[in-house]
Amino acid sequence: MNTSSASLSASESTGFFGAYGGQFVPDDLKARLDEVTEAFDRYSDNSFFKDELDYYFKHYTGRPNPIFFCANLSERLGGAKIYLKREDLNHLGAHKINNTLGQCLLAKRMGKKRIVAETGAGQHGVATAATAALLGLECTVYMGAEDMKRQRLNVIRMEMLGAKVVPALSGQRTLKEAVDEALAAWIANPDTFYVLGSAVGPHPYPTMVRHFQAVIGCEAREQMLAECGKLPVAAFACVGGGSNAIGLFAGFVDDADVRLIGVEPAGRGLTYGDHAASLCKGEPGVMHGFHSYMIKDENGEPGAVYSISAGLDYPSVGPEHSYLKDIGRAEYVSVTDKEAVDAFFLLSRTEGIIPALESSHALAQAVKVAPTLPKDAALLVCLSGRGDKDVEQMEAFLESAK
Ligand SMILES: *Cc1c(COP(=O)(O)O)cnc(C)c1O
Repeated sequence: MNTSSASLSASESTGFFGAYGGQFVPDDLKARLDEVTEAFDRYSDNSFFKDELDYYFKHYTGRPNPIFFCANLSERLGGAKIYLKREDLNHLGAHKINNTLGQCLLAKRMGKKRIVAETGAGQHGVATAATAALLGLECTVYMGAEDMKRQRLNVIRMEMLGAKVVPALSGQRTLKEAVDEALAAWIANPDTFYVLGSAVGPHPYPTMVRHFQAVIGCEAREQMLAECGKLPVAAFACVGGGSNAIGLFAGFVDDADVRLIGVEPAGRGLTYGDHAASLCKGEPGVMHGFHSYMIKDENGEPGAVYSISAGLDYPSVGPEHSYLKDIGRAEYVSVTDKEAVDAFFLLSRTEGIIPALESSHALAQAVKVAPTLPKDAALLVCLSGRGDKDVEQMEAFLESAK
């Protein structure tokens, strides 16, 4: 696995990507972050560490997962060929396991016995709980009390996997409060490691999460060359915090001819409160310990966000995406709930693959672009997860689906 990507790693030592990233945190938190940075620097290129991670990628996760040429869908759209990178085929059905394996293995190397994590919709919590069980680590997941009601099945899954799920009872009782409580538990317990779920947060998390998710893009690049004989003209990924997108982009960022397209949730439309398109509609600011584009309320605090897809409604975005946007290396667009729902049914019915609602956003953009390109062009879409978790929610759309 080649996870090096020259242009992406230029600023790692300082934790800044241009003006974005950094560590805007109190001193007690900074000390814990420094400890993680030091361990990550020591082990990320260590061959024993890499072999161990590759072993679990192969035998536990089922990597490499394939790329899949959507012959029926491409034929129907009448333009470029659409390929999917099948992260939905990973153990637990999404890309999140790539990151939790990397971080939990690092925690073990550091001699940590306990894991804490935040979770919103519960997908990262489930991946963390499974990985902790696998590696014999104690696991506590903080989850907003409101989210625990909405995502009951994931709470049960985490408990089945042996994790303790602690409800965050303050404020809105959702992801932000869960993060606050997980951080407090981390600071209070020196034998604990904090497993963060996306390419966000203070340094070193954005760099570390990209490193572990880069396997997506590195594999996909080799697979495109081997099976399609060329690189895609564009690579698409949905952007919540931005981890599957930065993992995909890492494989292609040095290929100047490959357009990198991040797709944000436009929700009900691009007016405040109806979407979570941080890069398309937000402005730079500091939140959760790092500088990036964010959606602010009238006081400059984290603003109200919405998406049909629980995995995408975060009011900021990984700092490296902000940098890639400003230098023009990646483009960021948005797709509405309706367009994502249409793409969800389109893929299900043309290829027999039910995509996650998050991934359906990336697919929807590729579906828009494909007809404008010649038949010999290839598009690559990161299918970040499978849609089984979304079927109950999508049942309501079954009648109206075309
Ligand atoms: C969590 C999740 C996302 C959003 O997270 P990123 O960090 O932006 O990748 C996207 N797709 C699926 C399937 C998820 O579970």
